[in-house]
Amino acid sequence: MAYDFDLFVIGAGSGGVRASRIAASHGARVAVAEEYRVGGTCVIRGCVPKKLLVYGSKFAHEFEDAAAYGWTGLAPAHDWATLRDTVAKEVDRLNAVYIRLLEGPGVKIHMGRGRLMDRHTIAIGGPNGEQTVTADKILICTGGRPEVPDLPGREFAITSNEAFHLPELPKHVTIVGGGYIAVEFAGIFNGLGAKVDLVIRRDRVLRGFDEECRTFVHEALAKGGIKMRTETQIARITATPDGQGGGKAPFQVHTPLGGMFETDLVMYATGRVPNTAGIGLEKVGVQLNKAGAIAVDEWSKTTAENIWAVGDVTDRINLTPVALMEGHCFADTVFGNKPRKPDHRDVPSAVFCQPEMANVGLSEEDARRTLGELRVFTSAFTPMKYSFTAHKQRTFMKLIVEAATDKVVGCHMVGDDAAELIQGLAVAVKAGATKAQFDATVGIHPTAGEEFVTMRTPRAEPAPRKAAAE
Ligand code: NDP
Repeated sequence: MAYDFDLFVIGAGSGGVRASRIAASHGARVAVAEEYRVGGTCVIRGCVPKKLLVYGSKFAHEFEDAAAYGWTGLAPAHDWATLRDTVAKEVDRLNAVYIRLLEGPGVKIHMGRGRLMDRHTIAIGGPNGEQTVTADKILICTGGRPEVPDLPGREFAITSNEAFHLPELPKHVTIVGGGYIAVEFAGIFNGLGAKVDLVIRRDRVLRGFDEECRTFVHEALAKGGIKMRTETQIARITATPDGQGGGKAPFQVHTPLGGMFETDLVMYATGRVPNTAGIGLEKVGVQLNKAGAIAVDEWSKTTAENIWAVGDVTDRINLTPVALMEGHCFADTVFGNKPRKPDHRDVPSAVFCQPEMANVGLSEEDARRTLGELRVFTSAFTPMKYSFTAHKQRTFMKLIVEAATDKVVGCHMVGDDAAELIQGLAVAVKAGATKAQFDATVGIHPTAGEEFVTMRTPRAEPAPRKAAAE
């Protein structure tokens, strides 16, 4: 049977755009449906605009540090509207770049929500009504969305989606959650001059990361002026009667035991859920896993013969470069005659909180659970830049080495440019570098990074619960 397209992709985010254009470059006839904006979460309301806001907020520290280096007359005021609108313009530019990336190799873009009618028919809703097209193969990359838990007053809370468009910078922001998004936005609002409360239900932020690193980050966030409301749950949110505050903060945040504090903005960052509803999965036999994500095999194939899925909707590792890898592998395998599976081992990642944290490989806890004896090397120090500044951002580095093989199985850093350094070291870890090879590598002086190749003495056991953040 002749179909309209060889491949129809639902969702033009990172995974969808990569898969579409690579499949098209292999000669496939490809169409994609996008209901919001081409570029998806990462480009439109995630990684990219977030990182630009991080850059914007970090100038606060730079100005502070500059005084120690002799700069005078720096009493800058920040204009939120300028930053917000500049970032929005950059997002528009990138949105256009992504459209061109698709159009270049001939991918047909349908602006509208794609819905599966059967295994080969897709209905696309748009401003001009619904149309149907047919395709031999289908790829689902509908991503995820932030979800606010069901609690009274949840309608008063925003998520990261709205944070990029705030009419003005609130004086007092309350962020709920202790994951990536919560700590990153806490740093952004704090740097831009807002008072920030971070409400976390556990004793520390960033569960799942190396314990020493997350403790180091937690303490640094508190030291940087963020109020850490640990082991705190929120029972409900209320608004002042006139809704605008009338001179008071517009919202009250209530804790289960009767505590209350006022705030100008409540932002929830308590996780994201895969976008699986309303796209006809049940009609075509695409099954979900226990976590509610699309179940896929190691080739990203779903339980339906001609349907694949990549990216956050599959909830494997929810990071843009992973979605790119999965989409690229799919296109090469299915349309390029170059079968390859995505490799989810040793994926580096970074949290752009302030200070930044990045890692590749195993946390010490995971290494202890899965490997034998370890040698752990750590270093906590004040980088040269902060030798005589009033604001001092200490750095923490950690290498985890499997004793039996001498392999570096985990590499962690908290501090300036952690993501940039770890990206380089990720090549070494992925290649199976040994500690002896790290030791044989000559450092670049004077840098913080040279510390990674000069850590000679393993930490004494047992491991301390926390690193020296002070
Ligand atoms: P995360 O899963 O990272 O964190 C969710 C946080 O919310 C955790 O601290 C969790 O606590 C807490 N939480 C969950 N439910 C509740 C609740 N009902 N009440 C209070 N707290 C709650 O989610 P994010 O939304 O921050 O990020 C989603 C994903 O996006 C990340 O997993 C990451 O993959 C990706 N991302 C990556 C970035 C990067 O690479 N730099 C940046 C931003 C996002 P607990 O620990 O107790 O479960």
